[in-house]
Amino acid sequence: MSPEVPDTRVLEATLDIIRDAVLITEPCPSTTITFANAAFYRLTGYTQSEVIGKTPALLQGRDTAANWLDIFRQPASVAGSPPIEITNYHRDGTPLQLEWSVTACPAGRYLMAVQRDVTELRNLERQHLQLQVLTQMQQLVSTAGLDLQMLRQKVVDVALEATGAEGAAIEEAMGDEIVYTAVAGTARAVAGLRLPLDASLSGVCYREQVPIFCPDTHQDSRVARARAEEIGFRSGLLVPLLHEGLCFGALKVYSGLPHAFRREQLELLEMASQVLAASLNDARRFKREQERRTLLVDSLPMLISFVDDDYRYREINAAYTRWFGIEPGQMLGKKVADVLGREAFDRIHGYMAAAMAGDQVRFETTVPYARGGTRPVEAEYIPLQDGEGHVLGFYALVRDISERKSAERDHLTKAYNRRGFDRRMATAFATARRYARPLSLLFLDIDLFKPVNDQCGHDVGDQILQKVARLLMQLARESDTVCRWGGEEFAVLAPETDLEEAMELAERLRQAVASEVESPLGPVTISIGVVERRPRESRKQFTRRADRALYRAKELGRNRVETSGS
Ligand code: GH3
Ligand code: MG
Ligand code: MG
Repeated sequence: MSPEVPDTRVLEATLDIIRDAVLITEPCPSTTITFANAAFYRLTGYTQSEVIGKTPALLQGRDTAANWLDIFRQPASVAGSPPIEITNYHRDGTPLQLEWSVTACPAGRYLMAVQRDVTELRNLERQHLQLQVLTQMQQLVSTAGLDLQMLRQKVVDVALEATGAEGAAIEEAMGDEIVYTAVAGTARAVAGLRLPLDASLSGVCYREQVPIFCPDTHQDSRVARARAEEIGFRSGLLVPLLHEGLCFGALKVYSGLPHAFRREQLELLEMASQVLAASLNDARRFKREQERRTLLVDSLPMLISFVDDDYRYREINAAYTRWFGIEPGQMLGKKVADVLGREAFDRIHGYMAAAMAGDQVRFETTVPYARGGTRPVEAEYIPLQDGEGHVLGFYALVRDISERKSAERDHLTKAYNRRGFDRRMATAFATARRYARPLSLLFLDIDLFKPVNDQCGHDVGDQILQKVARLLMQLARESDTVCRWGGEEFAVLAPETDLEEAMELAERLRQAVASEVESPLGPVTISIGVVERRPRESRKQFTRRADRALYRAKELGRNRVETSGS
């Protein structure tokens, strides 16, 4: 036996027991297969009769590189040169990732091709990469929070990097257009571009809600060629942004070269797009929610703001602009004291400090108004705390109560009317009872007022009523309530005042009126009945006693102060 002529039976037997697949073919150009080992049949699923006499072309399919058979044309001359990875196909159509090493045998009489199956390895690698990208995506989502634009941007950046594309874009459907809402790489040139939905491949992806693998835009009739040329889109991957059956648009990565992507990359992009779509959904819902909330908050007829722990406005509603005549941009970040003015700030500072300490507070005050003057308001501060109980600031709800205030005042004298008095009486009475605090009530009536009216005229009578009221309001404390009870009768409610103090107050009032108010008929005087609230007494009993005390003062000769006997 000549040493150059191989004993094919020995060779075949040897090849049959090794684990790598082996083909022996005739040299180019025929490359007819003359032998395949057992591992080859196991790997590819073909039988001997389907293989012998054919060429390796029977292993090619959709994603096999078009020029792959070149590996038989230029076989490696040196053993150990790196194998070439090709996508081939099993007999049943399953793709196989094979590493090919083709060597020419002595005298070039035949070629020996060894294939190592790396499908599993590549799958593992791909899964690993996908996990990495997904983890990265999840991280992005959690750090981007609900900032929609930041999220979009990060997603296109990741998509670009993970696929090795030249350009990446998120295209979102708006009406009958598709808009480039985020771009990366070469797509940067077309940020904000709007295209008709029905004239783009992204539109197809969006409408049909299917991923699209486009190896060459020149071969795809659905592509708007001019547009594709413009952005350098020759091959690409497109996936719909789908969440719970809702499609927002498409995520696209592309290259200026044909066949720049592998079909498996589509799967990766799909996973990324799902994460994005879920976030887009959240973010959009949040944005809508915020807009709805802003609309609602802006339309409320009250000042609503958030004040941080440095006493600066962090959120304000539209009412602030109307009230202070300042644009929101100029007000945000400003100190409360600078907006309200020192005087108004000093009046409310204590309440703010209480809110900063975590108390919910409610009070009435006056606040300067843009068109001059001040307006009475009712303010409520609601502290906002973090998870550990630190106060971050408070929400301030401030209501204009001028109307209610004017409805509680008597037009002639500007003293409280019965309605205003009753509201204050209810609060003061309840407080005094709950905390067992003193509360006194004065009933006052102008003496012999009828003759003044009758003889000097109604106008003179009115002026006297105004003068008396002004005096009472000047001399009473700010916490006291001066009320025109009706006609020429007044009442003064004095919290934190016992009978003795109330008698002194009444005496001061009596003297002041007697010395300072005059009618054409002579000095004007008043009679006053004084009572202090008794434990377990009702409001009705309380006022009735005050009335009786006044009656006593009249009986005992007018221009005097009396308390109720029993
Ligand atoms: P006395 O209380 O000391 O017993 O005598 P009086 O004359 O004040 O008593 P009376 O209550 O009978 O008279 C009250 C008068 O007050 C009747 C009315 O002429 C006058 N009066 C009541 N309301 C008004 C008002 O709004 N304007 C004016 N100008 N007069 C009023
Ligand atoms: Mg009278
Ligand atoms: Mg009277």
